Amino acid sequence: MKELEERIKKDGRILGTDVLKVDSFLNHQIDPTLMKKMGEEFFNVFKEKNVTKIITVESSGIAPAVMTGLCFDKPVVFARKHKSLTLKNDLYTADVYSFTKQTSNKISISKNFLNSSDNVLIIDDFLANGQAVKGLAEIVESAGATIVGAGIVIEKSFQKGRSIVDEKGIKVHSLARIKAFENGQVIFEEE
Ligand code: 5GP
Repeated sequence: MKELEERIKKDGRILGTDVLKVDSFLNHQIDPTLMKKMGEEFFNVFKEKNVTKIITVESSGIAPAVMTGLCFDKPVVFARKHKSLTLKNDLYTADVYSFTKQTSNKISISKNFLNSSDNVLIIDDFLANGQAVKGLAEIVESAGATIVGAGIVIEKSFQKGRSIVDEKGIKVHSLARIKAFENGQVIFEEE
C-alpha cells in the first residue's frame, strides 16, 4: 500500500536495529483516514472468504481491526493481555512471547465470542517474530473455528514471523513489507 509506505518513510523512526516507531499515526496517535483505507484494503483481499469474525490482540491491533470489521460489517474481538475480573474460566488462552519486551503474556478471548462455526480473519499492526499471530491462531484452533488468513499492517520480513505463520498454513497479506533498515532508511520489499 503505497500511501502507507510513504507515511512510514515520512513519520516512522527506526529504533536500534529492528524496531520501527510509528506512534504518530498507528499505535499511539492514530490517523483514522489512513486506518480506514487499511480496513478497505484488507476487505478487498479477504472479501470472498466468508469472514464471520475479526480478531486481534490489544491494544495496537484494535484500530486496524475495527476499521476492517466495519468494512465486513462483522464483529471484532480483541484478545486481552490481562485477565479482567469479569472474565474467569470461560476463556480460550495462549502464551505469547514478546521479543521487544522479553516477557511472556497470556492472551485470552471469552468463549462467548468465538465458536466452531466462525471463519476468522486475524489482524495485527506488526508481524515481527510471529508470536502474536501464532497465539491468536492457537486460540482460533482451540475454539474449533477456521482461520481465513492474517492481515498485517507492517511486516518486517527480515524477522522470522513470516516463516512461522507460513508453516501454520495461514495466508498472510501485509500492507507494507520491510526488507531492511539500512543507514537509517526503511527499505521495502518490491511489490
Ligand atoms: P511478534 O509477535 O510478531 O514478534 O510481534 C508482534 C507484536 O509486537 C505487534 O503486535 C507489535 O505490537 C509489536 N512489535 C513488533 N515489532 C514492532 C516494531 O518494530 N514496532 C512496534 N511499534 N511494535 C512492534
